[in-house]
Amino acid sequence: MHYTGRFAPSPSGPLHFGSLVAALGSYFQAKSQHGRWLVRMEDLDPPREMPGAATLILQTLERYHLHWDGEVVYQSLRHHLYQQQINDWLSQQKAYYCQCTRKQIKQDGGYYRGHCRSKQLNSSGCSVRIKIDTPITEFFDLKHGHIALPQAIAEEDFIIKRRDGLFAYNLAVVIDDIEQGVTEVVRGADLIEPTGRQISLYHLLGAKPVSYLHLPLAVTATGAKLSKQNHASGISLENPIPTLIEAMRFLGFTLEKELESASIEQILAWGVNQWHLAQLTKETQVTTLFSNRVS
Ligand code: GLU
Ligand code: ZN
Repeated sequence: MHYTGRFAPSPSGPLHFGSLVAALGSYFQAKSQHGRWLVRMEDLDPPREMPGAATLILQTLERYHLHWDGEVVYQSLRHHLYQQQINDWLSQQKAYYCQCTRKQIKQDGGYYRGHCRSKQLNSSGCSVRIKIDTPITEFFDLKHGHIALPQAIAEEDFIIKRRDGLFAYNLAVVIDDIEQGVTEVVRGADLIEPTGRQISLYHLLGAKPVSYLHLPLAVTATGAKLSKQNHASGISLENPIPTLIEAMRFLGFTLEKELESASIEQILAWGVNQWHLAQLTKETQVTTLFSNRVS
């Protein structure tokens, strides 16, 4: 099957150093295998989005010469696909409505234990959960090998649609990756934990599973993930090369000094040519000072 990879940013803020690392890692992994590289905007959660961020992210990718194949897909325009799948599962009793609040679940020990599974609730004020009968407690990662996942999380009938009507990331990501023909998911190590849940959905859908590669996550000196919440600044649009080189070093490239005076196209082409998984650290978190730099 033809390799198809993707970069799937959430437009909660501008493209920061951590998301550039994810974009580049997925780009090199796809292009070094002559594959397609798609971009999908994961705009599922309007309250957490920043107006204009989606456009800004795409402009930044273009400025860094990270040209995607095909059209950008917006999850906000695909609610019908997610709802249709939920309806199918509900009618097959593979999913069910749940009225438990976060507080109740917390009192119950922090894990949802199937409280509403056989209650036959109807929709009002409810979330929708998927029935997990065969928990996924490990998966294979191209860098990390077999990764074990906590049993309690693997067993949970997790939420596919929230009480507030928003579709869950785990549902949308799987439906879209299948529908877009993605063969390999390359993303930050912060998404190792939900991978088991996503694999459960592939099984339920009878879809061919994808392969996974989780990249080291860029964290601040205090160990926090770079994000809008900790004010990770957007990366430079005026002077992309130093940031590009910094992100490539983060991904384990050894770039000679001369390359710093090459064009972005030349640097990327060199990267595509040199890229190999052994260059990546096995650490899942790597400290960067880059987050605080002003663009
Ligand atoms: N949209 C997710 C994020 O920005 C990434 C989804 C994925 O790569 O599976 O964190
Ligand atoms: Zn419940």
